[in-house]
Amino acid sequence: MRLTLIRPSIGRPNPGTFETAAIEPLQLGVVAALTPPHWEVRLYDDRVEPIPFDEPTDLVALTLETFTAKRAYQIATAYRARGVTVVMGGMHPTLLPDEVAAHADAVYVGDAEQHWGELLSDVERGRLKRLYRGEPTIPQLGTFPRRDLFKGKKYLPLSLVQFSRGCPYRCAFCAPSTYFDGRHRTRAIDAVIREIAENNLKIVLFVDDNFTADRAAAKDLMRELVPLKIIWGSQASVEMIRDRELMRLMADSGCFGHVVGIESTDRENLVTMNKKQNLSGGLGAVAEAFGEYGMTLWAALTVGHDNDTPDSIARLVDRCVEARFAYAAVNMLCPYPATPLYERLKAEGRLLYDGKWWLHSEYHFNAAAFVPRRMTADELTLACRKGWTTFYSPTNIARRVLTWDTLRRHPLRIGLHLFYNYILRKDFLLTDGMPFADPLS
Ligand code: SF4
Repeated sequence: MRLTLIRPSIGRPNPGTFETAAIEPLQLGVVAALTPPHWEVRLYDDRVEPIPFDEPTDLVALTLETFTAKRAYQIATAYRARGVTVVMGGMHPTLLPDEVAAHADAVYVGDAEQHWGELLSDVERGRLKRLYRGEPTIPQLGTFPRRDLFKGKKYLPLSLVQFSRGCPYRCAFCAPSTYFDGRHRTRAIDAVIREIAENNLKIVLFVDDNFTADRAAAKDLMRELVPLKIIWGSQASVEMIRDRELMRLMADSGCFGHVVGIESTDRENLVTMNKKQNLSGGLGAVAEAFGEYGMTLWAALTVGHDNDTPDSIARLVDRCVEARFAYAAVNMLCPYPATPLYERLKAEGRLLYDGKWWLHSEYHFNAAAFVPRRMTADELTLACRKGWTTFYSPTNIARRVLTWDTLRRHPLRIGLHLFYNYILRKDFLLTDGMPFADPLS
């Protein structure tokens, strides 16, 4: 039996082109590992390579998020027209199974670990059901992802590893928090360590929703990471800076930094988005703590909250430049389906694009998909774009990167920061305003 796993892209920055800075699709490596050995598995990543639609296969499985749903439906249509059975799973099918069911022969809701084997044996017996439902569970269930499937695809030189899934917080815009319903589960520490050691991974990105959600478990893992002498990063909550033992262990175990959900500095915005864990402390304190331990901070911002205006967004970005954050993502606040934010905006009649921006022909990447409270949708789109171009202007890149903190650490770090700032600037300019899916399909 032949299984084709596909990771769809969001769209094409230019017709017929592919991404040059993609990271491994870890979730598909896990699905491949959960597949019995009598299935021959192939993996195609629509972001970095063409999909061979005419290659013989018995089953196509797509993983999709809301941003990649439209492209996934295009791919599914092409395969189903050739008589190939298509199943879809991932975050978007979990949040909107009915929509996805219209484009697939079967929908897999929730974590793959529990029922993936059952789905495959149903395919073998010609008895595929329309819906499979896995509950949130311990990631990977003792398997290691099939990393051999990533070879030759020119991903960024980072190995993705998962320690935990979920997050105990409930930020109103967060799709993973809606799916995991405030639950957080960690893998056995010895399994994580064995996975890193046996695969000889040297630069690791933990793809956890919130690496420090269970601080005791995170500390235990970091103690075991120390002898491996790897370099690693992840994403974690801002309140980590108040736990000095945690910060020390991070530095000692090779942590180069984290993506941190700063979101906003406006108190009312933080309360409305239910991000109360961010209410104490300021940007200066975060920058100082990261600098003290030699770690790099990637500030994740969201713009378009009810108290935001074009001026307040510009001020927020200026403050991130002044705090000398190495990186920032000025993300458009995004109403992901089924989240509390989506339901509130829907109830208030503020959703644009018929409430289904991810499928709408006129929606473009990085555009506001709702009516903000204190500006127009177009003003918000422009303010978000200006935030990116300001933060990544050549002058501001130099101001942020050439700091004493980076200079005294290592000249290599300056080179890396300059390189990745350049990549991020280029990526933003390429994808801003990009339509979803592939116009050539
Ligand atoms: S802290 Fe991060 S992962 Fe947790 S609910 Fe908030 S946005 Fe989601």
